[in-house]
Amino acid sequence: MQFNKPAADIFVPDGMESAAALARTTHLCVSAHQDDIEIMAYHGIAECFGLPNRWFTGVVATDGAGSPRAGIYADYTGERMKKVRVAEQRKAAYVGEYACQIQLGYSSSETKTPPAAPLVEDLTRIFLAARPEEIYLHNLADKHDTHVAVALRAIAAMRAIGGYKPKKVYGCEVWRDLDWLQDDDKRPLPVSARSNIAAALVGVFDSQVSGGKRYDLATAGRRLAHATYLASHGTDEESALSFAMDLTPLVEDPNLSIADYVLSFVDRFRADVAKRLGAVG
Ligand SMILES: [Zn+2]
Repeated sequence: MQFNKPAADIFVPDGMESAAALARTTHLCVSAHQDDIEIMAYHGIAECFGLPNRWFTGVVATDGAGSPRAGIYADYTGERMKKVRVAEQRKAAYVGEYACQIQLGYSSSETKTPPAAPLVEDLTRIFLAARPEEIYLHNLADKHDTHVAVALRAIAAMRAIGGYKPKKVYGCEVWRDLDWLQDDDKRPLPVSARSNIAAALVGVFDSQVSGGKRYDLATAGRRLAHATYLASHGTDEESALSFAMDLTPLVEDPNLSIADYVLSFVDRFRADVAKRLGAVG
């Protein structure tokens, strides 16, 4: 497969030819950065792990040049850091037994400048080759602009494709969780399975974790907290949960206003707070 950036990286852990590897995909995540996939879309990875008829593919839009660095990585140039991040993402794909791992190699600013046509074109090519049923994107209330931008490019690509629509599109948690969504609006994704693999997947990103950000512990902690605090009554069926915002309607209806749709979740949160204050005030 050919992509627009010469530095684009395709890795197939089991060595299958890349077009065939991609064609077996059932679950696919498009993230902004290396390590986002393992934080936001472990549900999809776990749904496919070790099964012959389900395959997870990861797509990372950016090149990792802007990542923070400390310790043994402190003196690394941007170019050397890109290589570290590509290698770390490949390690995760191997541990998670992904069908295919694609790193498209765009700069953050390229993803954030609309319409980002080359990125949309690459994503269109991937969606058509993989035709996944379940898609994992960043949620559209994330506080990292590159996350929101990459999710918007993926939605733009899916909206424009004729003859293919995924069954489910999830907006997932990295930089801002989704506990604030009304329970009816939450899509709880069980992520209790194989906590050993879940831990390894975030742990292989040594350049990030050893830089002083314990994403490994924080990600596991967030999942435990969600499982515990989802409902005040009853016992927990899951020991770990991720929450997602349902983005499927935005892909099914290309005319639906993205801002209106996302802000409707905020409106329902606001109304709930106001109602409770009114009830006991
Ligand atoms: Zn990120």
